[in-house]
Amino acid sequence: MKVEFTKLFQILPLFFNAYARNADHKKLTGHIIKLNQQNSVQGIINEMSVCLKEILSYRLFAFVIQRDIGIDVWLDPRMYRKSLESVFMQDFKLSGESEINYLNHTFDNDEKEYEFSLENLVSYELSEEKCQGKIYMLPNNDMPDYHDDIVEMILKSTGLALSKQINIEQLINAATLDPLTGCYNRREFEAQMRKNIAVAKRYRSNLSLFMFDIDHFKKVNDTYGHQAGDAVLQRVSSIVKNNIRTEDILARYGGEEFIAILPSTGKREAMELADRLRQQIEKEIIVTESGTIRVTASFGITSYESSREYSYEQSDSEDMLHLIENADTMMYKAKHNGRNTIMPGLV
Ligand code: GH3
Ligand code: MG
Ligand code: MG
Repeated sequence: MKVEFTKLFQILPLFFNAYARNADHKKLTGHIIKLNQQNSVQGIINEMSVCLKEILSYRLFAFVIQRDIGIDVWLDPRMYRKSLESVFMQDFKLSGESEINYLNHTFDNDEKEYEFSLENLVSYELSEEKCQGKIYMLPNNDMPDYHDDIVEMILKSTGLALSKQINIEQLINAATLDPLTGCYNRREFEAQMRKNIAVAKRYRSNLSLFMFDIDHFKKVNDTYGHQAGDAVLQRVSSIVKNNIRTEDILARYGGEEFIAILPSTGKREAMELADRLRQQIEKEIIVTESGTIRVTASFGITSYESSREYSYEQSDSEDMLHLIENADTMMYKAKHNGRNTIMPGLV
């Protein structure tokens, strides 16, 4: 009898283990189906985070996807951002924080930060055709012995779902984005501009536009080479992108010339923004393989103010050309005024 009990005690855990394994695999299948039903990168990552937590009691901290320029980061909780940023910088060999794009947060300047001990953090690589990345998480202490299989399956399914999603996004982006800087291209800018002018007219809301051109950029190319010039264009555009609102639209208008639509923004606000951006560009130290580069930019600003009577005789396209022309004229005035300055004008 004693022998029987001993046997039972040996077998029971195996039985429970098999039961738990079965239950976890069922849950996993459910999550994998949901993963594949998502139609955004963030949706896929959210689903993966829920899956890790539910099956392994893992706490996902960060999910990083390598992009052509910099990285996309899903982060939770947000208060450990600084501690984790140093890990990302090292793991993805980033040259500056401006290369980090957060998918699920925008951060204020006075955001509370807490130190986070990186000791227990584990990371797993994710490598699929269209999706290279890394996940960072805190493991649970008592892990089931089939833990590795489950992690592998979650990673594989997430990687495949993300690859598919990224492929779709790339096709859409190729038609609307500038490949070097990731800003909108000129065609998409014009389409967005017409839409925003129509909205501003209908609701009598403000609309501003700024155009800027990098000063003496030819000299940057001549001194440091075209590749370094490209790196400057990428960095300057990402500084601007990171400091405007999500509803603002930044486009590459020409070689080293950019333009931005600022919906619901009056002249004063647009001037303040442009000057802040000008200062940020001026103080940025851009490290490239050919040396350290600093540049400045000249801004032209133009605004449609809600207090003003709009002309309904002009089409949206005519209004658009008029606004762009005005921003362009102002930008050239800023160049004539010695560069590294802003110049506002009213239409
Ligand atoms: P200014 O202060 O008057 O704007 O002087 P600038 O030298 O910036 O102006 P200019 O128009 O003479 O030169 C612009 C240069 O930008 C020339 C062109 O080779 C360079 N450029 C245009 N597109 C690109 C690009 O995609 N990459 C690089 N590296 N350079 C570019
Ligand atoms: Mg220039
Ligand atoms: Mg130019």
